[in-house]
Formats: sequence, structure tokens, C-alpha cells
Amino acid sequence: MVLDDLGSSLRGTLDKLRGKSRISEEDVEEIVKEIQRSLLSADVDVSLVMELSDNIKQRALEEEPPAGTPARDFVLRIVYEELVDLIGESTELPLEEQTILLAGLQGSGKTTSAAKMAWWFSTKGLRPAVIQTDTFRPGAYDQAKEMTERAEVDFYGDPDGEDPVEIARQGLEETGEADVHIVDTAGRHALEDDLIDEIEEIEAVVDPDTSLLVLDAAIGQGAKEQAQQFDESVGIDGVVITKLDGTAKGGGALTAVDQTDSSIAFLGTGEEVQDVERFEPDGFISRLLGMGDLGQLAERVERAMQQTEIEEDDWDPEDMLKGQFTLNDMQKQMEAMNNMGPLDQVLDMIPGFGGGIKDQLPDDAMDVTQDRMHTFSVIMDSMTDAEKEYPKAIGASQIERIARGSGTSEEEVRELLQQYKMMERTIKQFQGMGSDQEMQRMMK
Ligand code: GDP
Repeated sequence: MVLDDLGSSLRGTLDKLRGKSRISEEDVEEIVKEIQRSLLSADVDVSLVMELSDNIKQRALEEEPPAGTPARDFVLRIVYEELVDLIGESTELPLEEQTILLAGLQGSGKTTSAAKMAWWFSTKGLRPAVIQTDTFRPGAYDQAKEMTERAEVDFYGDPDGEDPVEIARQGLEETGEADVHIVDTAGRHALEDDLIDEIEEIEAVVDPDTSLLVLDAAIGQGAKEQAQQFDESVGIDGVVITKLDGTAKGGGALTAVDQTDSSIAFLGTGEEVQDVERFEPDGFISRLLGMGDLGQLAERVERAMQQTEIEEDDWDPEDMLKGQFTLNDMQKQMEAMNNMGPLDQVLDMIPGFGGGIKDQLPDDAMDVTQDRMHTFSVIMDSMTDAEKEYPKAIGASQIERIARGSGTSEEEVRELLQQYKMMERTIKQFQGMGSDQEMQRMMK
């Protein structure tokens, strides 16, 4: 994740301020050094880093913390505000009829991002269409077609077409019923003159409301030149940063944003159509600093609930508290968790859970959990409804059959039943506790 290093090192430094009510000049120096080190190693442009650290230093020393505010919170607030200021607002994208042009080098993630963005607009109730004009990269047409099918959005491309400008023109006509048009363009390995000419011609035909530059988060200082050239040719309004799920640094993308005086529009966090987030500076920085991002969390929960098709009257935690907790309940909970996305990303959004606690877990702890949830799900698919409703009746012979049917081991089936027992016991404890009101509060 972008600037991940900054998040954890900064938290470490800030934690040293815990319990202090005043902050010394040495404290500020140490914090600023830490910020500089992290940003520079994340490939953020030097002049940007200097500007940011000067601002933080000046404010931390000159501003008076409000009475009763611990030094740590005070500094955290300043760092947070300055980072939000550096990264800026999210690129404005109204939820209405519009045309978006995507530019970027080959492999940056344009085609993937086009389908992801279309999917995102469709979840907002709009009808998007992707127009694929990349005649240069073999496979771009098939990839776009397949991804837009998965996203269930309109698509236009011409596998035999040779003139991208003509494809763009035709595409806009053919997808006239859509309200959001996302035009994907060809990239090259480097910025060649013919790429620039081609995208300028497409831009003239398409007349986009917004032009977005797609950048791989791994890009370093090269981002500056690229951003400048694309900005001169088509005018960049915003940036899409892709592959943030990798070990990428992301600093180059911030430099590009600064260079083009633009902003960040979307973040790509995986290879699937749904692995996209609308960029929200506040939440993003909060997550970075381990302060959680409740906005994103709420959106993911809502999305997960829709995908899992948990109707409110079909599955209600309070009903579960009153009656029996079955394996069906557990499966639904696990599906909902899965649909929220990778666990480590979800944990980052929970205040107090990102950073601090997560940093202490071994790196692969999250993968193991995700794998286990997948295995459990496969096992439950091999159970009969009766078994899921009355797990207590599952004996040795059933365990053997379920393991065989699901291609897992008997030990794994037992593990699942053990997990179920643990959850049931927890629920029982809830049931035994205090008044209904108190229980509802806890469930929330
Ligand atoms: P294009 O040449 O700019 O159209 O790039 P593509 O959309 O074909 O993406 C290049 C590669 O990066 C593909 O293998 C994509 O699956 C992958 N990719 C794109 N976005 C992401 C992302 O956010 N995360 C990950 N892990 N992979 C991505």
C-alpha cells in the first residue's frame, strides 16, 4: 500500500510521545526526520518532501495545542492535515452523464481500470460503457470485452479495426444509450511521438469531460516526465493509481499529481473488477496513519451485504441472538466477510485496528485466515441442509463423507466444527447478558 512504510514508522515515532503533554523541539525534529525518510524512500519528489516537513515543523512548534490535548494527538492532527493538503481533494467526478478519457503507458493498468471504473459507476446507478480503442496491444480487445462482461457494463471495440480514432467515433455512436463513456486508449512502452499524436486525435473526437492518467504505483521518478507530457498533450485532470495491493511505493504517483496540479480519482487494489476505490483523501490518510477509515468500511459492508443477498428480514443478528446459531448463519457471516475484500485491507479501515495491532501480526497471518475461510466455505458446501441446521448431529461417519466430498481432510472438517462451537459459545454468552438494549448495543 502506498506509503505503508510511512504509516508504520510514523506510528512508532508518535507512540514515543504517548503520555507527554508538551512536545520538545527534539521530538519535532525526530518526527520530521522520520517523515522525510519514509517519503523519500517511497519515491516522493524531494522538493515536495521538504515543503511538507517544513510546514509540519513550523506548525508543531508554533501552534499552541488546545488545552488538555496530548502531544501525540496534536502532532498526529498536524501531520494528518498537512498530508491531506499535499494529496489534495479527490478528482471531481459528478454522478451524471460524462465522458472520461484514460491515458497512460502500456501495462499501467488502463484497460483494467476502465472496466473497474465502469463497474463503480454502475454501483452508483449509472449506465456506463467502455470503449476500447487500443489497436496496438494484442489482447487488449479480448481483455476489455471479458472484464466488461464481468462488470456487466456496455462495451464497444473492434477487434479488426486499425484506426483508433475511427473506433472512438464509432464507439460513442454505438453506445449512445449509456450515460458514462469511458474511453480506453493505447499505451506504448515509452512516450513515443506517435502515441502522443494518436491520443491527441482521439481526445479531439471524444471531447472528454475528464482525462485521467493511469499510473502503476510502482513508478518512481519517471512519473514526473510522463505526467508532464500527457498533461501538455491532453490535459490531465486526475490520476488513477493502480496495483496498490502490491509492494509498490506509490510516491511517484503523488509527484505526478503535484506536477499536473491535478488530484487522485481512483485507486486500484487488485486484479478483479471490484478491486477499486474512489479516492477519498481524509479516509486514505487516516488509514495510512492507523486512524481507521470508517467511510470506506461502511461502503464495503453495504456492498458485501448486497452481494451476499442478506435480506434484512432474512438474516438479522438480533434474531440469531434469540434463537439458535447454525452453520448456515456462520456461512453467511463468512461470505459477507469475504465480499468485503482482503482482510488486511478491511482491518486497516477499523479505527485502532489498522497499524498498531496489525503490524504485530506475522505478514502471512491474514492470508492464512483468508485461506481458512475459503476452506470452511468449501466444506460447508458439502454438507446437507440438515447438517448445517443441526451441526451437533454430525458424527464420525458424516465427517468422513464431508471431507471426501469437499476434497479436504477430516481434520479440517473437525476444525470447522470446533470454530462453530466457539462462535456458538460466544453467542450464548451474549444471550445471557443483561437487558436487550445492552445486547443490541454490543451487537452494533
Ligand atoms: P494497460 O496496458 O494499461 O491496459 O494495462 P492492463 O489493464 O492490461 O494491466 C496490466 C496488468 O496489470 C494486468 O495483468 C492487470 O491484471 C494488472 N493490474 C491492473 N491493475 C491492477 C491492480 O490494481 N492490482 C493488481 N494486482 N494488478 C493490476
